Amino acid sequence: MIGYDLDGVLRDDYWPVRDKPYPKQTARERQDYDESVRVYLIGAECLWVPSADEPYVIITGCNAKFTDVTMEWLGRHGFENFAIAFIDRARTRRNMIAFKAEKIQEYGVTTFYEDDPAIARALERRCPGLQVVLVGNNW
Ligand SMILES: [Mg+2]
Repeated sequence: MIGYDLDGVLRDDYWPVRDKPYPKQTARERQDYDESVRVYLIGAECLWVPSADEPYVIITGCNAKFTDVTMEWLGRHGFENFAIAFIDRARTRRNMIAFKAEKIQEYGVTTFYEDDPAIARALERRCPGLQVVLVGNNW
């Protein structure tokens, strides 16, 4: 099965930046930030829609609290015949790599499209036989 990262591969990756680190934000500031992310995600540009002839899986480090806007976005852009896995742990780079490697195994992914070079290299090391396609800004 083919696997895709979401942000930077299928969906444009210009997430709003927090004005202070998460631990220093008040509850209200975190809520406002989440709202700005939702607004961004609703209007995010679509980079690529895989063919629906074969099932595929999207494995994303996007927080599951954005599932509703993400599913709405995927539907609006014509994504079909896919499974999707949102990260189920804290969004550190180490966790993202472990999570993606686990899902790649679980879904039997043989080719994975990724835009983060460090994650791409780590997945190649952790998943023997996996072909990782590093996607640039202009694929
Ligand atoms: Mg990405």
